[in-house]
Amino acid sequence: MTDQYAVIGNPIGHTKSPLIHGLFAQETQQDMTYTAIEGPISPQEAFAETVNTFRAAGGKGMNVTAPFKLKAFAMADDRSERAELAGAANALRFENGRIVAENFDGVGLVRDIEVNLHLPMAGKRVLVLGAGGAMRGALLPFLAARPAELVIANRNVSKAEALVAQVGVRASLLACGYGDLEAMRRFDLVVNATSASLTGELPPVPPNVFNPEGAAYELAYGKGLTPFLRLARNAGVLGIADGVGMLVEQAAEAFAWWRGIRPQTRSVIDQLTVPLD
Ligand code: NDP
Repeated sequence: MTDQYAVIGNPIGHTKSPLIHGLFAQETQQDMTYTAIEGPISPQEAFAETVNTFRAAGGKGMNVTAPFKLKAFAMADDRSERAELAGAANALRFENGRIVAENFDGVGLVRDIEVNLHLPMAGKRVLVLGAGGAMRGALLPFLAARPAELVIANRNVSKAEALVAQVGVRASLLACGYGDLEAMRRFDLVVNATSASLTGELPPVPPNVFNPEGAAYELAYGKGLTPFLRLARNAGVLGIADGVGMLVEQAAEAFAWWRGIRPQTRSVIDQLTVPLD
């Protein structure tokens, strides 16, 4: 029987996941379908019921997007360490009557930065703006990439501090507010993991953090030159990128987890890329 997968979110009309997984399935010759499901926001228990209905009908796994990542995590029987730290799941696998939760956002991001953009983080100074769900999922993969220093700046500083406290205090990891950045040396890589770009806003980041020989990465995608990327470019940074590669790489991780085969990502990224200018 053809194996069934789906992405669940609300709204879901914008999702690129069926296209991405369809291309992966074609390339790796997998007998599977992948659909998009608009999940119910209320009542409270309706999300879990929708997932369980899909599962009971033979579903093998799901991607989970906003606003259900926390609910998906909560209903899982088993959770990866990355999902535990994020407190959120972006992928589920149904096996032996159990629901397993994973979070591939962070590995997808690190893979895009290190492999696709050729920017190894080992020994580098890295600044991340934002301490929301995406950064929570990315913290362990970022630490595994061994930057010399990882600074997490957030408007709500206590959220960044709580995140750092969860993995344990270490010299190379610092939580701070935006005001503290003015006194800091420039960074090799500045990552915008805030949702500010979704509303055309700029996080209050001072331009001194950018290194013209370094890079700037925006998690949002398909939005062209966001205020953050524009600021980086005006500061002389040539290496700028948005999150389309992250989107495709996290999908490839989920695909490999479900199917046991890793698809190629380059041509899919090229197909989905919206030019920055
Ligand atoms: P959350 O809602 O969980 O977190 C939002 C974060 O943005 C918080 O740290 C918040 O700060 C900060 N923030 C929001 N507005 C501003 C602002 N105007 N100035 C400064 N900080 C601001 O969002 P996510 O972590 O889920 O998503 C973050 C971004 O990552 C989004 O753009 C999303 O689209 C993108 N994303 C991309 C993916 C991809 O595959 N490319 C995958 C997942 C996410 P505070 O805590 O102080 O409120």
